[in-house]
Amino acid sequence: MKLILVINCGSSSLKFSIINMITNKNILYGIAENFCNHAYITWQINNQKKKVNFNDHTDHELALKYLIHNILFKQHNNIFNTIQAVGHRIVHGGEKFLHPVIINNNVMQAIQQAAIFAPLHNPIQLIGIKSIIKLLPHLQNKQVAVFDTSFHQTMPKKSYLYAIPLKFYTKYKIRRYGAHGISHQFVTQQVSRLLKIPLKKFNGITCHLGNGSSITAIYQGKSIDTSMGLTPLEGLTMGTRCGNIDPAIIFYMYKQLNMNIDDISNILMNESGMLGLSELTSDFRYLEKQYYNNKQIKISIDIFIQNLSKYIASYSILLKNKIHALVFTGGIGENSVLIRDKTIKKLKILNMQINPILNKKTILGEIGMIHQINNSIPIVVIPTNEELIIAQNTAKLCNI
Ligand code: ADP
Repeated sequence: MKLILVINCGSSSLKFSIINMITNKNILYGIAENFCNHAYITWQINNQKKKVNFNDHTDHELALKYLIHNILFKQHNNIFNTIQAVGHRIVHGGEKFLHPVIINNNVMQAIQQAAIFAPLHNPIQLIGIKSIIKLLPHLQNKQVAVFDTSFHQTMPKKSYLYAIPLKFYTKYKIRRYGAHGISHQFVTQQVSRLLKIPLKKFNGITCHLGNGSSITAIYQGKSIDTSMGLTPLEGLTMGTRCGNIDPAIIFYMYKQLNMNIDDISNILMNESGMLGLSELTSDFRYLEKQYYNNKQIKISIDIFIQNLSKYIASYSILLKNKIHALVFTGGIGENSVLIRDKTIKKLKILNMQINPILNKKTILGEIGMIHQINNSIPIVVIPTNEELIIAQNTAKLCNI
């Protein structure tokens, strides 16, 4: 067995999985979450679910320690002994990282520097890297960083520069970086394989719709534009993030409403989007069930759909309407029959038509085409698998 441990440190959770590189299957995976409150860790192995509550204070370092010592070393020693390398998801690589890299001191320094653009993620991900050095010292030179921003580094200047004085880019590196790159890259590779189009010739639009949502225009297998910006706050309407708004709203909140900048930031990141609009929840499982019963939920979902369809249309134009496929992924993209149906129905003019039966069938991890065959550009649902792409890159760089 060749096993890779994949670590994904989020702002308040830690996801982990161990992937068998011969079968490409996840053999153990789980999450430590709820760090601020009553933290717990859940994991799954051989279809068995396990859960342990943490009594005391927990953070990423302690959760990793529990994973390595108590779960892997004590309970699954055969797995512990077979892990050959560790892959880390890193949210922001700035302009420096075009590809995954083996982690060394210089890489750690660069991750720290890029933390100004991802203050909730990069510092915590560095803690993950440093904890692994302490906990698994024999693997300290077998750690790989895979960046969410790398895939978008192929964007041309006309996509990544903002129309603000140029010095803010040249001096301070303020530009569009994008995010979810690992997922957009994964589904691009999968769809080009599925449609038997060489990756280098593949043009399409990939929609990653989850708690955070983003959309990418792919030309010849590469990202040429994406909706997230300097940070993952820009773009589509999201679960709790506002997406595109007039920046003057911030001046208004600050000057006229006397709000401080931390409160404004909290509102735009954590209290806006579907949660802010519906005043109920950001969970699409609930929202879509109430679409026809609750007027405010209907308006909130219609706003989400309108923004998504506007982006798809504009990226179609960017790609001269010569696209091989439109792809849906992420929790909403993989499961929401309503969102896919209503969005595609707006795009008939772009030769996109949904097949309602296939749309209904393609949920819960199914890969599948959901368009009217012969009458539409292929519309494909592909479950994302960021862990696999991190593990594959880790194995490649570590010669495993
Ligand atoms: P994250 O960005 O945190 O990785 P996910 O990709 O897991 O998020 O997506 C979470 C979103 O997907 C939530 O809004 C959730 O309600 C939605 N979702 C998950 N399952 C379903 C489903 N069966 N139907 C509709 N929406 C779903």
